Amino acid sequence: MATNVTYVRWRRDEPREGRVFPALSESHSAYDADCWLCGKPLGNGSQVQLLAIGPEDEADRIKHHEGRWYSALAILLHAACVQGAEPEPEPGTGTEGVVSMFVPGDD
Ligand SMILES: [Zn+2]
Repeated sequence: MATNVTYVRWRRDEPREGRVFPALSESHSAYDADCWLCGKPLGNGSQVQLLAIGPEDEADRIKHHEGRWYSALAILLHAACVQGAEPEPEPGTGTEGVVSMFVPGDD
């Protein structure tokens, strides 16, 4: 089962964008999953990047609000799509907007 959802060590004051990884190999679990930003397969030869989303359960939600480290839900996307999602670094736009698209009601 292809999945682009995983977990990363994160706290809310850290950047949501994780490190950029090289193009996925066919054996990677996310190879056949689609990028949520462009809809194309993650395994299309592009570099990929993890984007932290936020807490998945109540215990982590508390840690999130207290600004502590926890295991946050994260999605794998094309690195170019993550970077393309914030052409202008204005508050309330770019990646934050993308994240709120996926996770309504957090914060
Ligand atoms: Zn993409």
